[in-house]
Amino acid sequence: MNINNRLSINPYFTSGPVVKGFGRGSKKLGIPTANFPDTVINALPQEFETGVYYGWARVNNGDIHKAVLSIGYNPFFKNEVKSLETHIIHEFDKDFYDAWLRISICGYIRSQENYNSVDDLIKAIRNDIKEATENLDKPIFTAARESEDLVKHIDTLVDSYG
Ligand code: ADP
Ligand code: MG
Repeated sequence: MNINNRLSINPYFTSGPVVKGFGRGSKKLGIPTANFPDTVINALPQEFETGVYYGWARVNNGDIHKAVLSIGYNPFFKNEVKSLETHIIHEFDKDFYDAWLRISICGYIRSQENYNSVDDLIKAIRNDIKEATENLDKPIFTAARESEDLVKHIDTLVDSYG
C-alpha cells in the first residue's frame, strides 16, 4: 500500500513556523498558503508524491480547521526546491507569519498540473477545497482531528496569535 492510501488510517503529522513564501500572490487570488521552512519539508517521507492533499491545520493554540495542502517544486528555483504549502479553510482577520502551524495530512486529492490560465487554476483549487471539506466530514477523519499532536496545548509559543 503506498503512502497515499495509508494516510486515512495513519495521517502524517508535522509542524513548524510559518515563513515567508515566494510571494507569488496566492493571497491576491484569494487563496493564501502558509509556507513551511526547509527543515519541515526535508523531513517529509520520500514516498510523498507531489500533489494536492487535505487535512487538518492549527495555528498556535487556535481552532483546528480543515485545510488543503500542496507538496510541490517551485519553478522559481528551477524546480529544485520542494515546498509544502497549507491553505487553511477559514477566514483569518490577520496574517500569522512566525506562528507555529501544526498540520495533519489525511488524504490525497490530485497530482500537480500546469493550468493554462489563472482562472483554470482557481477553479481547480475551489474544487480541491470542496473535496477537502466533504472528505474531512467523514467519521474516519474525526480521529485525525482529535489526535493529541493537534489537540495538545503548546505553552512555549513565541507569537501570541490564536
Ligand atoms: P507567501 O508567499 O508569503 O506565503 P501568501 O500570499 O501565500 O504569501 O499568503 C500566505 C500568508 O497569508 C500566510 O503565511 C498567513 O500569514 C496568511 N494567511 C491568512 N489567511 C490564511 C489562510 N486561510 N490560510 C493560509 N494562510 C493565510
Ligand atoms: Mg504562500
